[in-house]
Amino acid sequence: MSLEAEPLGPLHLGPVPPAEAALLSARVAALRAALAEAAVAAGRSPDSVRLLLATKTQSAERIAAALSGGHRLIGENRAQELRDKFDPLRPLEPEWHFIGPLQRNKLRMVVGRAALIHSIDSLGLAQAVGEERLRQGGQEPQKVLLQVNISGEATKSGAHPEAALALARAVVELPGVALVGLMAIPAADATPEEARQAFARLAGLAAAGRAEGLPLRELSMGMSGDYPQAVAEGATLVRVGSAIFGAR
Ligand SMILES: *Cc1c(COP(=O)(O)O)cnc(C)c1O
Repeated sequence: MSLEAEPLGPLHLGPVPPAEAALLSARVAALRAALAEAAVAAGRSPDSVRLLLATKTQSAERIAAALSGGHRLIGENRAQELRDKFDPLRPLEPEWHFIGPLQRNKLRMVVGRAALIHSIDSLGLAQAVGEERLRQGGQEPQKVLLQVNISGEATKSGAHPEAALALARAVVELPGVALVGLMAIPAADATPEEARQAFARLAGLAAAGRAEGLPLRELSMGMSGDYPQAVAEGATLVRVGSAIFGAR
């Protein structure tokens, strides 16, 4: 089966025709198999990389169809979408992650609902997340990744690579949050080779952090267009949207 997703139509609302539901579920299975294969090709264990379905703009019904084969890991990049789809999808017991820019006034929609927040890029934001988690009285700290601006674009969110480890050292000291790794999004116009180099830089940064005892085991990197390169460079979480759901 081809992993090239054809657009499934512009409307992502309402019931999903059975053939389309089957296609979504089949794409998830095929992509999971492709990731496991890529991990093995890179000399890694097949279960060392997990597929996160990036579900932005998708209806709860289409997401449910994609999860019907038993897949559970999904991520939203807007706080309202996470909040709105959380209850409808609860019967499927998804593991929700939050992967987009996080605004302070929307922390309540995300903290506690997301098992992992991928997009922490400042000490102030990490502090605010920890405070919200403590305010909620949650037993477990909120798990987070630091987003690193690995391609150096002025417009993208993410900590500067040279500041990332200092930020990591500060975040591990905060109450209410648990740092578990790094995340990056390469420049949108990066070639596959440029993306691979960016992933290698992120992996190098995580390795340097681990060498000094920082808990940076997770590497969230790779999307529909560049996940093979990300897995080759050590991704543990790849975030894939359009290769599953079609063009947005
Ligand atoms: C949408 C999104 C993705 C998935 O992108 P595709 O190119 O559709 O696979 C990955 N990461 C983030 C942060 C996103 O917002």
